[in-house]
Amino acid sequence: MKNKITIAGCGVIGLTTGIRLAEAGYSVQIVTRDLPQQTTSNKAAAFWFPYHVRDSEKILDWSMASYKAFESLSFHTDTGVHMTPVIKLGNEFSEIEKRIKATLPPGRFRPLKQNELAGGFKSGWRIEVPLIETPVYLPYLLNRFLMQGGKIIQRTIQSLDELMQDKTTVVNCTGLGSRELAHDDQLHPVRGQIALLKTENRHRILLDDAGPTYIVYRQDGCICGGTYEMDCGIEVTEEAAIQDILQRCCRIEPRLQEAGVISTWAGLRPYRTDIRVEKETGKPLIHNYGHGGSGFTVSWGCADEVKSLLEI
Ligand SMILES: Cc1cc2nc3c(=O)[nH]c(=O)nc-3n(C[C@H](O)[C@H](O)[C@H](O)COP(=O)(O)OP(=O)(O)OC[C@H]3O[C@@H](n4cnc5c(N)ncnc54)[C@H](O)[C@@H]3O)c2cc1C
Repeated sequence: MKNKITIAGCGVIGLTTGIRLAEAGYSVQIVTRDLPQQTTSNKAAAFWFPYHVRDSEKILDWSMASYKAFESLSFHTDTGVHMTPVIKLGNEFSEIEKRIKATLPPGRFRPLKQNELAGGFKSGWRIEVPLIETPVYLPYLLNRFLMQGGKIIQRTIQSLDELMQDKTTVVNCTGLGSRELAHDDQLHPVRGQIALLKTENRHRILLDDAGPTYIVYRQDGCICGGTYEMDCGIEVTEEAAIQDILQRCCRIEPRLQEAGVISTWAGLRPYRTDIRVEKETGKPLIHNYGHGGSGFTVSWGCADEVKSLLEI
């Protein structure tokens, strides 16, 4: 058995990191204020797509490592991960998306056919990506972590130093909590609002960057999003924003006009210009936070990086 590791935070980042380290033979405990169902991670749409992230080799590597990990998980029905087509409307690509387009395996990326276009768009792309159904995936991760001997302690942490007193290396995966815990004013809340509609599962995702507008069909209904509200830290929905989301979604998927709203919610993305995965000099402390709107998309790659940092 290798050293003892304490992870702060039990969202998708803390759990994924916990699994990777437990698999590598470390004795891992997670200390957290919230259990997975109460975290931002449980509020995500969530599908694999590098979104509002810097164009860099690291982000590309983390994203592609995660794509592969999710693809393997999609073969197991208990994970809540399914390979699903994204119908991306329009021809606008961010720099990182252009590189992803060139890196994905052959056959995963092609122009849309005429009968696949929607919302008056003249062109677009079909991209096969992992869809991650959070109500299934987060319990799956938690269970996998516990089965590997991982432990969960539920309590609020006042400072990361208090965890380091226990002769353990600490991995900080507290998302937005790092504004206080890591004294990081580069970390910003970005609010996202969502409505869940009662519909049949059409096994696809529709995406129009304007808005942003996305429609994600899942087992429990259809997620309609969204908003990207920088520096808005109030975790509530606004009726006008929800109505606007529904209008935008119905424009590209008119059949949604008939669907009833099951629930609405808001989540705060932990945004930082550079995702922070690094070791602090002179302390037994590694950070893994600030994943913004791409936490699932890079989760396995970032967990691998934490493991490498521990082994240096
Ligand atoms: C509406 C919306 C849609 C999204 N869609 C996608 C998507 O399609 N694809 C994608 O890849 N990403 C998406 N995201 C982004 C993704 O959800 C986040 O990047 C990810 O959840 C961040 O995970 P995390 O584990 O860092 O943070 P969190 O899930 O917030 O977890 C933080 C953990 O730290 C704990 N913590 C914090 N402070 C303390 C403290 N003081 N003491 C103890 N514990 C503490 C919390 O209790 C929690 O357990 C979306 C986000 C939103 C809001």
